[in-house]
Amino acid sequence: MRTCPSCGNEVTGRSDKKFCSHYCKSSFHYVKNREDENNLFRKIDGQLKLNRRILKEYNKGGKAMVRIEVLHDVGFDPKYFTSYWKSKGGGVYLFCYEYGFKQMEDNGKQKYLLVQWQDYMN
Ligand SMILES: [Zn+2]
Repeated sequence: MRTCPSCGNEVTGRSDKKFCSHYCKSSFHYVKNREDENNLFRKIDGQLKLNRRILKEYNKGGKAMVRIEVLHDVGFDPKYFTSYWKSKGGGVYLFCYEYGFKQMEDNGKQKYLLVQWQDYMN
């Protein structure tokens, strides 16, 4: 016996029929989409918070230079940020809330310049 993944009732009819009714089919997909959306939201939200925590941890003095591997090793992911700021010189700083970073080369090594959000960046 096949059971409907939405309501648990028996599914009758064609063997490729998965749900007992159109109603169950659409409500199942509705719930699933909502869960996927929540999962994605939680994943992004969690990564942003982790990024912020890491930037804060490595930037105790308000400005710092750290090798990119050091941050990546503890879970920092530069793809996730909340805003950016473009300096007059054209450099772009990415921010996770009030903590910013900018990738740059220093003595042949890839590093992040860590900064904190300043009032003049508004
Ligand atoms: Zn059903």
